[in-house]
Amino acid sequence: MSEQYRQLSPSEFFYRNREVAGFSNPTRAVYQAVRELVENALDATEMHGILPDIKLELREEGDGSLTLAIEDNGIGIPSSEVPNVFGRVFYGSKYVLRQSRGVFGLGVKMVVLYAQMTTGRPVKVRTATARSKFVYEYEVMIDVEKNIPVIKSLKISRNDSKWHGTRVELSMRGNWVQAKKRVEEYVRRTALIAPYARISLEAPDLVLRFERSVEKLPPAPKVGRPHPKGVDIEMLRMMVERSKRSTPLVEFLVENFDGVGPVTARKFCEWAGLNPEMKLRDLKVSDLELLALKMQEFSGWRRPKASTLSPLGEELLAEGVRAVLNPEFVTAVSRAPSSYGGHPFVVEVALAYGGAIPPAERPLVLRFANRIPLLYDEGVDVSVKVVTEKIDWRTYKVEFPAPLAVVTHVCSTKVPFKGVGKEAVADVPEIESEIEAGVRECARRLRLHLSRLERLLEAKRWRVTVGKYVEDVSRALSYITNYDEEQLRSRLVELIRSRSSRGGR
Ligand code: ADP
Ligand code: MG
Repeated sequence: MSEQYRQLSPSEFFYRNREVAGFSNPTRAVYQAVRELVENALDATEMHGILPDIKLELREEGDGSLTLAIEDNGIGIPSSEVPNVFGRVFYGSKYVLRQSRGVFGLGVKMVVLYAQMTTGRPVKVRTATARSKFVYEYEVMIDVEKNIPVIKSLKISRNDSKWHGTRVELSMRGNWVQAKKRVEEYVRRTALIAPYARISLEAPDLVLRFERSVEKLPPAPKVGRPHPKGVDIEMLRMMVERSKRSTPLVEFLVENFDGVGPVTARKFCEWAGLNPEMKLRDLKVSDLELLALKMQEFSGWRRPKASTLSPLGEELLAEGVRAVLNPEFVTAVSRAPSSYGGHPFVVEVALAYGGAIPPAERPLVLRFANRIPLLYDEGVDVSVKVVTEKIDWRTYKVEFPAPLAVVTHVCSTKVPFKGVGKEAVADVPEIESEIEAGVRECARRLRLHLSRLERLLEAKRWRVTVGKYVEDVSRALSYITNYDEEQLRSRLVELIRSRSSRGGR
């Protein structure tokens, strides 16, 4: 018998291995579907300066299937792109150097695939871009073997209301009862990290509505160029191929990389022993190898620019935490940009204490990466490692059980996720130490707050204790000195109040 050889299309790969993208069982599938759709809706709004307005609906149908619909007020999708965007695995607009929730060009196709697999029905998409004269309504399925979209129907109507945005609807099998808690948690945490968004969810036994608590968006991320430290030979080869063959090396470096000026480029060439005027056409494979290696090693590059990132900022982060967790105390830190292996990143940390946070034996850790809440795989995440293993909370006056929540947010053009399900951040040393520094800074502020509380409490206790003797003392004093007892008493009360409000004795 001879072997049969053929190629596996990307759709078929993910159809067979859906668990790697988070679709491992009917519960997880519902959660993952909601997540992918919400991520796309947020990317289509906040990244383009639009305050998000997102409506999510889930219905259980008589035949046991689940209908999921989501509508956003985002930039919409050009009609000609709709089929590929929903029906071709690895197709998207986010393959650029800029922080976004989506990265792989995969998410929504996984949802469409799962829907198609479990109910055989197409995805329905209704969309219009800004100022589009028409609204387009598509029904799309995926040809799994060929990895191409199949358009089932297309309806075009006039866009009289000047609407823009996208509505996606699909039917899938899934376990809503089991998924409910996770979905609720996911939406709550999304509201925390996006306090500028209005998000509503209507589902069986669950209605959530988060109004926006701020009307301000963080500055949108800009598209950037790769940092010279992050290159490898293959990447260099592709970049060289895209450039004119007569370009001198120094110009190639300046034009293609982040933060490289002519002076730095020449300095680098000299250091690496390469001729800066050498034309790209004369670069041999061995030169490419040397170039890649030296670019990684050179210490004279500027840090990667952080304009490709979009951290929330301390004010917005604190506001989100306040609105969703309702704590007694909150503080937030947005660290200065840093980098690992040529990828810029920013770490943000918030700490919340007391109020509506229930006391627990361990700090509640709420993790986010590029504004995506991470709910699974907590045990292997770098933030959890820092918060539970590296920090001795007693140093900061926290005694467990304590009502303590730690929020961590890692933004990067390349978050080192463990797996395509995007649920945990790997422990890259540079990121780990930034998280630790952020948590410590917040924890020091918490310690100040707790000390202040402690002093107030002590003062109150003193007031109560001393207050017990006011009657007796004023009577005795009046007896000895002949002063009016009533006057003595009010004088004493006043004294106690003024001393205890200064926090001393
Ligand atoms: P990714 O989000 O990783 O790019 P997806 O498969 O989830 O991959 O989406 C593919 C592309 O479809 C996105 O890059 C985006 O251009 C487009 N898209 C998806 N959903 C929306 C939406 N709600 N509004 C506008 N564009 C969208
Ligand atoms: Mg996506």
